[in-house]
Amino acid sequence: MDDLVTKIAVIESRLCAVTSIAERDRKDVLLLAVSKTRSAESIRQVAETGIKSFGENYLQEALAKIASLQSLDLDWHFIGPIQSNKTRQISENFAWAHSVDRVKIAQRLNDQRPSHMAPLNICMQINIDNEATKSGFSTEQALPAALEITALPNLNLRGLMAIPAARENIEAQRLPFAKLRLLLEDINRSLDNSEKLDTLSMGMSADLEAAILEQATIVRVGTDIFGPRSTK
Ligand SMILES: *Cc1c(COP(=O)(O)O)cnc(C)c1O
Repeated sequence: MDDLVTKIAVIESRLCAVTSIAERDRKDVLLLAVSKTRSAESIRQVAETGIKSFGENYLQEALAKIASLQSLDLDWHFIGPIQSNKTRQISENFAWAHSVDRVKIAQRLNDQRPSHMAPLNICMQINIDNEATKSGFSTEQALPAALEITALPNLNLRGLMAIPAARENIEAQRLPFAKLRLLLEDINRSLDNSEKLDTLSMGMSADLEAAILEQATIVRVGTDIFGPRSTK
């Protein structure tokens, strides 16, 4: 527990330092705690420090934790690969989905979002380095897909998400993040004022400084909050 508190204090001081260098407000960057493979008890401890938003990759594991932590009123973000057979439970149990990589998946999430819930917040995952091993829209596909997704009434298309390939230093890390930022600005030129995207979900433990310098609004941090993950 003390260890967790120390780690979170270190992350918080990194966020304060880099937002200050970027001349940005600390409040404009959400720290999303990535809790895949972590126990409900560890999540509870992190929540006690004031963090309210958690990211999960594996649906069955996430549903069990969401149920057991229901009383805490946390915001759950789905950040893992989304197969068609998972869309219903994602729609019913999450506030956000960051990893939408096909229009068909967005349509299913829209159709299955319960009517008593607020629209599901969506980020389109972009395969920013065109890697064969990663999913996501290409930069060319992004605008036509964004226009289709913004038309879906039970979704709120908020922005773009990417997981770039690892790079050696902060200058190199900034390049794919800058590309994602420019893509968002480009898409926004084609959207009505009420539909403009306000979210760049980019940056993890190893590259959150580079991402924030390029205007990330959500950083997704696992290892540097919870410690190393044991291999699944
Ligand atoms: C696991 C994961 C993270 C967190 O990565 P760390 O390096 O542990 O901070 C962020 N985003 C996604 C999509 C992930 O799967």
